[in-house]
This record gives sequence, C-alpha cells and structure tokens, in this order.
Amino acid sequence: MAPTLGSSIYWLETARRDPGPSLAGRLEVDVAVVGGGYTGLWTAYHLLLEEPALRVAVLEQETIGFGASGRNGGFAMTLLDMSLAHLRRNHGDERARAAHRAVADSVDEIGEAVERHAIECEWRHGGLLVVATNAGQQRRIDDDLDAAEALGLDGFTRLSADDAQARVHSPTYHGGLHETHCGVLHPAKLAVGLADVVAGLGAQVFEQTGVTDIEESGSRLRVATAGGEVVADQVVLATNAWAAESERLGRRIVPLYTYIALTEPLTDAQWDDVGWDDHCGIEDKRNYVHYYRRTLDGRILWGGSDGIIYPRGAIAARHDRNDEVFAGLQRTFRRTFPQLDRVRFTHHWGGPVGITVSFLPLFGSLLDGRLHYGVGYNGHGVAPSHTGGKVLRDKVLGRRSELTELCFVDAVEPTFPPEPLRFVGAALTRRALLRQDAQLDAGRSTGEMDPLLLRAMKQLG
Ligand SMILES: Cc1cc2nc3c(=O)[nH]c(=O)nc-3n(C[C@H](O)[C@H](O)[C@H](O)COP(=O)(O)OP(=O)(O)OC[C@H]3O[C@@H](n4cnc5c(N)ncnc54)[C@H](O)[C@@H]3O)c2cc1C
Repeated sequence: MAPTLGSSIYWLETARRDPGPSLAGRLEVDVAVVGGGYTGLWTAYHLLLEEPALRVAVLEQETIGFGASGRNGGFAMTLLDMSLAHLRRNHGDERARAAHRAVADSVDEIGEAVERHAIECEWRHGGLLVVATNAGQQRRIDDDLDAAEALGLDGFTRLSADDAQARVHSPTYHGGLHETHCGVLHPAKLAVGLADVVAGLGAQVFEQTGVTDIEESGSRLRVATAGGEVVADQVVLATNAWAAESERLGRRIVPLYTYIALTEPLTDAQWDDVGWDDHCGIEDKRNYVHYYRRTLDGRILWGGSDGIIYPRGAIAARHDRNDEVFAGLQRTFRRTFPQLDRVRFTHHWGGPVGITVSFLPLFGSLLDGRLHYGVGYNGHGVAPSHTGGKVLRDKVLGRRSELTELCFVDAVEPTFPPEPLRFVGAALTRRALLRQDAQLDAGRSTGEMDPLLLRAMKQLG
C-alpha cells in the first residue's frame, strides 16, 4: 500500500496554543534565559521554586517547544554517553553512578512535577524495553547489564528472547532488558505546560524573540533582540543545537537531524497482534538506534534509523523532511512488525539535536560566571535537561552541589575541527556507523566499537 505521508509535526499540531508576547523595549531582570525548550524552562522552574523573588525572563526565538523539545520521541530515559557501559568505561564507577542516578531521579521528578502542577502531557511511567535484534546487539545489552550490576544500580532486568517477544510480538527480538527508570510523554504538551507553570511562578516568557547578541555592559550583561534588549545580572544559554551557530560554543557542538514517522491509530485487532499492552518505550541497540512507542490515541511513533549532519551544520526548516530517511523508517517498521504491513503512516518530521565530541552534554560558565550554558544532549535530553535545569540553577545561585560535580559539568570540552573537515569527517563517520549496523545484522561484527571508529567519532564527529 502506498504510504500517505504528511510532513507536519504531530506533537506541535496537537498542542497548539496562542503564542505569548514578543519583547518590545528594554527590560531589567536578574536572570535572562535564552531558549524556550526544556533546558531553559526547567532552569527557570528550579530557580523560581528556590528563589521566588528572582526576576527571570525566558526568550524564545520562535514559539515554546519549537526546537527538539516540541518534536522528540517523548522518552524520559536515563541514557548518557553511548551506553551505560561506555559511561562507566569513560568516567569510572563513582562518576558514572552519580550521573546515572541524577538522571534517574529526574525521571521520577518529572512525573512528580507533572502531577503537582497538573501538566496534561500524557505522562506514562512504563519503563524502557531495550531489545537486541542480532547477536552483536545482545552483547551490548549484556555489557550494560554487567555495568548496572557493577555500579549497584536498581531497576534493570534481563529478558530472554521469549520474555521480550511475550511483551511485544516482533520476530526480530533476540533478547533484551527492561529498565524501570523511563516514562513517555507528549513532548510539546510538556513544553507548553511547563511554560505556563514558570509564568505562574513569576517568569516573563517572550516568544518570537530571537537573541541576536550577548555582550558585557559594565558588571551586567546586555541581551539584544530584534525588538528590544534585556539587561541581566546573569544569562543562561539553553539553545541546544543552535549553540553551534554561536561564536562562543560553535566548535564544541554540531547539529544532527534525527527523524520520526508516525502511524495512523491501530485498530484493536492490530494491537492484539502486537501485544505491547503497557506504555514502555522501546529502543534497539544499533549505532543509529530505532526508538518507538505508543501514543495515547493508539498510534506507533517510529524514530531513529539514521542521523544527518547537513553541510556547514545547517539548521533549516527544509531539513525537517528527508524522504530517504522516511523510506528507511518505514522499511524497518515493517520488518519489525510484519503483522502490521497494512498500517499507514500519517506524519513524519525531523529536528536538530546537539552532538558533542564527548557524547555528553556540556554545562559550564563563561564571562566570569555570568553567562552559563547547558547544551548538547546527543539526542537524549528529555530527562537530562531536567537534571540540567538544576545544575544551571546551582550555577546561577553560585553554589557548589553534587550536581555541579557531575561528570558533564565544567568538564574539558574538546572541539570539532573547522569546516569543511568537520562535514567530511561527519559523513565518513556516519557511513562507518551504518556499515557496522549492517554488519551486525549480517552477524559479521561483534558489536564492539572499532577503536579507529571511536577515535574518528571523537575527533571528527
Ligand atoms: C526527532 C527527535 C527525537 C528525539 N527523541 C528523544 C527522546 O525520545 N528522548 C530524549 O531524551 N531525547 C530525545 N530527543 C532530544 C531531546 O528532544 C533534546 O535533547 C531536548 O529537547 C533538548 O532540550 P533543549 O531545551 O536543550 O533544546 P531545544 O528544545 O532544542 O530548545 C532550544 C530552543 O532555543 C531556541 N533558540 C535557539 N536560538 C535562539 C536565539 N538566538 N534566541 C532565542 N531562542 C533561541 C530554539 O528555537 C529552541 O526552541 C529527540 C530530538 C529530536 C529532534
């Protein structure tokens, strides 16, 4: 059956609201937050819970949730680095444990905040099912289970092929694991709900207010926008992939587009054929993972499969659509669920995530501790941006805490090479990663990352 693909962003379509005001004229605040995604909003939230009298302004160039926060898969999960095993290998037991636990706490705290403030974002705390679709992926799952055990982490259960297939009926599953610390939500409804909450706490939220410059102005910072300016004691930069366009952070982050296809609502009979009667999110263990989940209105969201860095790291509306990736997504969906071969896709879209050399987000401060940033979640920022909001709160309030000691805060931040080397390196790396995924499928790779490939990824992106 021919696919009938739309190209609109389902989440933004189903969370429409009237945009807030744009900034006009001059405003004085204590803290200006640039970026109206989860990082900016959680930062404002945590700051105002702690210091209700602070004057906080959030400045968003488009509308709240326009970036990755309004268009993601909606998995609030613990993943940092390429895997738990990599996190442990790269940062040691103590730091890996602390980072994992901080993000696992965030998963619970997102659920609590959603309940406390009655944010209607379809939150379902159903855990994460990680599946192996070949033997090499199974070895990666075994490595993660070994790491969880060595770190003494709770909430991980090994699943046999039969266990995994009993939960969700796909003939492709070789085995898997279930992790309890994961929930799924409607991403755009979380973003706009959170914006309403922070406005209720006293923040001024401005939309269609792009920041064009941040410069020192005596002991304060001047944030310029097309329609006015904000003078602030401190500024938080929460622009994620767009930070790649900034002079200050440009070499430390590169925008990568990831894509999603969404089915029509399945019938009851089709759901019976699939099983999957809870709201666990599902991921496989490819280099370019597939991530998929149910929506509350009975659709399957199917994402991942590939990731594209465009020339010069461009972020542009035309890249929201990539027909080659969409065709690949549909192929892998039908391979995973052959019983759903007649199900049609109704929406597809993509968006930019921020990739860093270390594969961890970057949190730090510039300009003598007056400009703070939190960017670059490598495609897994829904829960870590909540943790990040607490890190940025502590930075703004000038205090050291367990959070400001996390391995991704004030870390050494290696840089990507300049263009055109960065683009060429990124294209070669993508090809090598996709080739390894194909070799894993064919049983010709162990699943171990080739050390040369790892080095190339670290140096070239
Ligand atoms: C298709 C897709 C699927 C994903 N799936 C998942 C998932 O299932 N689970 C998960 O954990 N993560 C996922 N992610 C990643 C996750 O969405 C992000 O890590 C997270 O939303 C980052 O939030 P943020 O606030 O830092 O960035 P963003 O949400 O990107 O927000 C940055 C904001 O800054 C604004 N901005 C930029 N420049 C300026 C400026 N000059 N002035 C004012 N405003 C500016 C942008 O318009 C944007 O709204 C996915 C991402 C995509 C694109």
